[in-house]
Amino acid sequence: TELSKIRNFSIVAHIDHGKSTLADRLIQETNTVADRDMKEQLLDSMDIERERGITIKANTVRIDYTADDGQDYVLNLIDTPGHVDFAYEVSRSMRAVEGSLLVVDSTQGVEAQTLANVYQAIDADHEIVPVLNKIDLPATDCDRVAEQIEDVIGIDASGAIRVSAKTGVGIRETLEAVVNELPAPEGNRDAPLKAMLVDSWYDAYLGVIVLVRIVDGVLKKGDKIKMMSNGSTHPVDRIGVFRPEMAAIDELGPGEIGFLTASIKQVRDTRVGDTITHEKHGTTEALPGFKPSQPVVFCGLFPVDNAEFEDLRDAISKLALNDASFSYEMETSAALGFGFRCGFLGLLHLEVIRDRIEREYNIELITTAPSVIYHVHMRDGEMIQLHNPADMPDLTLVDHLEEPRIKATILVPDDYLGDVLKLCQDRRGIQMDLTYAGSRAMVVYDLPLNEVVFDFYDRLKSVTKGYASFDYQMTGYREDRLVKMSILVNDEPVDALSTMVHHDRAEQRGRAMVEKLKDLIPRHMFKIPIQAAIGGRIIARETLAAMRKDVTAKCYGGDATRKRKLLDKQKAGKKKMRQFGKVDIPQEAFINALKMD
Ligand code: GDP
Ligand code: MG
Repeated sequence: TELSKIRNFSIVAHIDHGKSTLADRLIQETNTVADRDMKEQLLDSMDIERERGITIKANTVRIDYTADDGQDYVLNLIDTPGHVDFAYEVSRSMRAVEGSLLVVDSTQGVEAQTLANVYQAIDADHEIVPVLNKIDLPATDCDRVAEQIEDVIGIDASGAIRVSAKTGVGIRETLEAVVNELPAPEGNRDAPLKAMLVDSWYDAYLGVIVLVRIVDGVLKKGDKIKMMSNGSTHPVDRIGVFRPEMAAIDELGPGEIGFLTASIKQVRDTRVGDTITHEKHGTTEALPGFKPSQPVVFCGLFPVDNAEFEDLRDAISKLALNDASFSYEMETSAALGFGFRCGFLGLLHLEVIRDRIEREYNIELITTAPSVIYHVHMRDGEMIQLHNPADMPDLTLVDHLEEPRIKATILVPDDYLGDVLKLCQDRRGIQMDLTYAGSRAMVVYDLPLNEVVFDFYDRLKSVTKGYASFDYQMTGYREDRLVKMSILVNDEPVDALSTMVHHDRAEQRGRAMVEKLKDLIPRHMFKIPIQAAIGGRIIARETLAAMRKDVTAKCYGGDATRKRKLLDKQKAGKKKMRQFGKVDIPQEAFINALKMD
């Protein structure tokens, strides 16, 4: 396709502002998909994405569009992941296109992810077309939201397109704006091949599928390609585009977006952001800014049933084939036996992987406390990256510890500002900025990542009744007084419950945890002390009283079915428990004990 007839764009939006619905309408309006095949949220393909209404992988669709000027255009839409865990993927896919539709819900206005995503688009030098969505709703207020876009983001929104992705109003205008306001890509057909690896995933039939954006040169079936990050070479067996199902084509030229397959065995062998060229007469100049994404949150995954360890190994290695940002290594815990220490891009990523193991592979899991990576500076000058509190070296050998910090941006209506400030303060935050974006306050906090990875987002949602939005970036490491807190149940340390805490908060956190555990652990025939300790020093203690009677006693003997039901229930409850010494601890205790409220 001629460069002047190509438009590549993405849609950026805060969650629920209508990105997927708008993409559906664009696909439908251009008859890219026959009406009978149209289903909602066409681009959100993975089950979990569909269920939770989030997009995790970048998805793409090629749309043929005959514009009002009578010319035929090829529009490539890349739908980027909307969640902060996948910010790196977003930034890469943004580099694969020249423009963005900035979708803002006209009943809501600009939110934290609107800002985070639009800044990524601005960073990637995009032309940006503002789109005000949901104008069919009575609460729509386009003038106010347009003004807010101008004030907060600083782009002209006077010509913003007014759209209802639900009813289809404004869809044609949106397509015209893509053609007329976004630039055509640039590139040189005669130069050596230079293509960006935008994304990759595993397909059971075709092996690894690689999404590419051609910058220069031409890619054809049968070509031998080279990945510039590691020099590996592969013969290309298929190239094509997404409409949105795969369709083979003869070649991909400059400015085009499509896929290739090249008998690549694992997603691990492909790196998002890498440059692909020809093995012979290739370019020597890689695209700038390539860096692999790094896991930031770690936790242990253990099978509830020890006998399922091999099944878990199998499940984890299969999932890892398809997800290069997910890392794992074997871990043994005195309390939990064999399992894996896994690294994730963030908490959502963790949940997605855990859900998939439980659902697709039918393995019940115990998830241990999520932890960030601490830098442990030893007295001898060595620095250890600590992924697991259980591995914390002897304190006498440690000089100091550093923890990762983030810059968090929160947008919230005035009424809830006080609660948000309190929450951030409670989490050891340092306020950096407080401004107003229209009718909403925008606060910027410097926070320890550790205080955020776990339940911060849930707490934020709950104290603001869902009205706050939140986004963050990692900033760096800073020294602080951090200690390892251990939990002892019936005088036995339970390593899987160890956490790193700030020295000044240790007592408060320890007390909260033992109180929680007292509620979470069922009574036994004997009394059970539950303690929190730092080194050898006990900082909090509760005692779980012994069980008084058999639970079936309250059935007054008579009703045998009811009695059996109760016993069955007890048995089922047991299955999700693990024994520690003489004590059964339920699966949920490992996560719930950490929740602070
Ligand atoms: P995304 O998270 O940005 O992809 O948002 P979705 O496309 O999933 O939309 C979120 C919700 O808003 C869904 O329930 C949609 O049906 C609804 N929605 C999207 N666009 C419109 C619109 O123009 N009008 C109305 N009334 N609802 C819309
Ligand atoms: Mg969506």
